[in-house]
Parts: sequence; C-alpha cells; structure tokens
Amino acid sequence: MEETDCPVCGNNQGHAVLIARDNLLGHPGTFREVLCPECGLLYLNPRPSPAEIARYYAGEYAPYLKRPKPARRIPRIAKMFVRLRYHGSDLRTRLKKDAFRGQKGRVLDVGCGAGAFLYRLKELGWETCGVEIDPRAVETARKLGLDVHAGMLEQANFPSRHFDVVTALHVLEHIHFPRAFLTEIWRVLKPGGLLYIEVPNLRSFNFRVFGAQWFNLDAPRHLCSYWRKPLVRLLRATGFRVTRIHHLSGTMGLRGSIGYYRRLRGLKPLHWIQRKTVKRLLKLFTFALDIARAGDVIRVDAVKIVDRSLSGHM
Ligand SMILES: [Zn+2]
Repeated sequence: MEETDCPVCGNNQGHAVLIARDNLLGHPGTFREVLCPECGLLYLNPRPSPAEIARYYAGEYAPYLKRPKPARRIPRIAKMFVRLRYHGSDLRTRLKKDAFRGQKGRVLDVGCGAGAFLYRLKELGWETCGVEIDPRAVETARKLGLDVHAGMLEQANFPSRHFDVVTALHVLEHIHFPRAFLTEIWRVLKPGGLLYIEVPNLRSFNFRVFGAQWFNLDAPRHLCSYWRKPLVRLLRATGFRVTRIHHLSGTMGLRGSIGYYRRLRGLKPLHWIQRKTVKRLLKLFTFALDIARAGDVIRVDAVKIVDRSLSGHM
C-alpha cells in the first residue's frame, strides 16, 4: 500500500469519511476513503500501489469478460430514427449518429476490455484502436480482428494529434495518476478532438443512501470517486473544455447496492428484484434520478483546447 495526496489537486488535508471493504470480489482487508477538502474528490488513502493493484482484479472481473454480440445489419429506418430522435445521452447512439452522417474518423477506446464497444464502432465504419491492460481481454479483442495494444495508455506510444475521438468508459476511477493519464489523451487527440469519459457519480442518490455499500464505490479497484466538480477541475487543468455532462444510471447500481446492504445484514438476496417488470419500474425511478442529477453514472463530453500555455505538450 502507498500513501497519496489528492490525485486531482494535490491537497494533502483529506480526512477519512468511511471505511470500505471489497464487496465485489471479497479480498480481505479494509480500505480508507478520504474526502479532499479542496476539490471534493473521494479517494483511497492508503491505496494499493501500481505494482500491487493487479491482484485485486484476480478472478472473474466482469468488465474484462464482456463479449460483443454478433454483427447485425442496422435497418435504414433505425438509422433515420437515431438521426431524428437523438438526445445525446447514449454515447453509442452519438457515435452511431456521427457515423451515419459520414463524420466518422479515428477512435481510440482506452480500457476497451474484450472490445465489445470498439467492435460495434468498427461495424459502423470507424477506424478503431484500443488499449487494454488485461491480457485475456486483449486476446479476445484481437480474435475479433480489433487492433488493441496490451498495457497502459502511456506504453502504446501513439503519435501526437492522431485521434478524432477518445473514449474512456469506467476507466478514470481506476487510474493512479489521472492528470498524467489525461495529459497523454490530450497529446494523442487532434486539436478540437472529442473526449468522452464515463465514471460513477459520487454525488448520487445511491451513494448517499448506501455509503460504504454503494455498488459503484468498488474499493479497492476504484481509487478515485469523482463527481461534477473534481472532474471538471481535472479536465480544465489538462487542456479540455467540458461541453456537456449527462447523468446515466442503469438499474445495476441500485440493485447491486441493495444486494450488498442485505448481505452485510445477513439477509437473503431479493430474487424478485431481477424480474423484468421490476427492473422496468426501477428504470423509471433511476430515470427520475438522472433528471435530478443524482444518477449513478456521469458522462462528460469534452473538447481538446489548444492555447499557448499548453503548447509545451505538442
Ligand atoms: Zn483534491
């Protein structure tokens, strides 16, 4: 374990607000979650060092294992619907829309897992590239014919100003040095290029209600828990302008949190919560949470800005 200052702003006055356990994979130990008084980030301190972190992913870490569905032809009517009815909340829809309009280009997905998202983008005509740290996931993605670099983003050595779009979906919360990570994304993006980041939202209804049993706290794999303020601060500091913030909670965060809460109290899992009709009702509830900006996940759309103070990065 290693001590750290706030990974976003460098403040070292953070105080412990809760003690978490590994609810997902059950690794032993307790983990101290510290709140930064300067930027509002919640982060693990002490935290597993970069050398130690791999063992906390051992086993069946689901995001690595998700495989793409087989390719399917998208009917023209569906394309029209997407073009006309697009509201901008779903990233896949957004990139689909760009593809249908002929605005596709080169996209990099950082932390692409087994390549499910990239595979669909490739089907739509994007020139795709991925980076993934898990060797099994890399192998699966490569079998699909995807171009995926094994290892960390910084090791891939992409040329500067290379990509039109970079996506990092549920990745930033796992990163030890988010400023260096975003600076590298800035380098490989074209000027005016788009960055899409998705992270769990600390200022969510679920965190307020469930605290240490919040499904998306996921200690010790999530080193940082973001929300609007620290995320915008981080992006501004690394050369991005935030253009939009969406709240997008599925029902998994709520169902998972209820599961952890009940397990902690020695209660049996609620099986009826997995029923389709119940999920649909919960979906209505989480939709209302999103409108109230208390959804479980936020997605930030940002643009790479180039000015003199940042030209040293070029
Ligand atoms: Zn901070």
